[in-house]
Amino acid sequence: MSRRVVRRIVRIDESKCDGCGLCVSACPEGALKIVNGKARLVNEALCDGLGACIRECPRGAIVFEEREAEPFELGGEREGLVERAHEQLVTARLNWPIKLELINPRSPAISGKQLIIVADCVPFVYSTFKRDYSGGFVASGCPIFGDNSLYRDKIAGMLKRNEVPSLKVVRMEVPCCSRLTSIVAEALRLSGKRINLEENVIGIDGAFMSKQILEVS
Ligand code: SF4
Ligand code: SF4
Repeated sequence: MSRRVVRRIVRIDESKCDGCGLCVSACPEGALKIVNGKARLVNEALCDGLGACIRECPRGAIVFEEREAEPFELGGEREGLVERAHEQLVTARLNWPIKLELINPRSPAISGKQLIIVADCVPFVYSTFKRDYSGGFVASGCPIFGDNSLYRDKIAGMLKRNEVPSLKVVRMEVPCCSRLTSIVAEALRLSGKRINLEENVIGIDGAFMSKQILEVS
């Protein structure tokens, strides 16, 4: 038996899990399976502790925990997956410009896409940002150094002038970054649109920490 180590690994709350299987397809390591209608971590050695499954779970049923477990092991089937993930990362494209200050809210490129407002630090810290967020229209800003009123009005304008099906804010876990979520929520209110606002939080260690749908009234 291999030496056990204390490390970050996922825990599944079966009372919240409805067995949809999204986490199983999201896990690049093959660590999860649906067993008797519930997701289960079937091989803890294969869990890389990066949380791709947490991001996909619509019911918030998966969380991280620090506990004693088998050390992470690179599974054989992972080799091809890593190459594919790398290829996706290299070929993924984002819109241009990216900075909120420079984006024209009337740009036709915005319509029909999810609007993703991202804190400036996130793409530096979260290594698969391009791959994971390239499907939407990305706009970045810093709630500490940027002009918060300009951001609010710009985002409200983008929402008002375009058919945006949903809105996402991606921020760092540090408390000062939560102001970005407040700005985006305020912009959504101002726009008068009734669409979902999802918040994704990235840890300072580069891991995807959580996602939640926020009530904006
Ligand atoms: S994504 Fe969430 S709800 Fe769906 S099977 Fe996995 S843990 Fe359960
Ligand atoms: S953290 Fe990563 S490796 Fe572990 S179960 Fe979730 S997706 Fe799979």
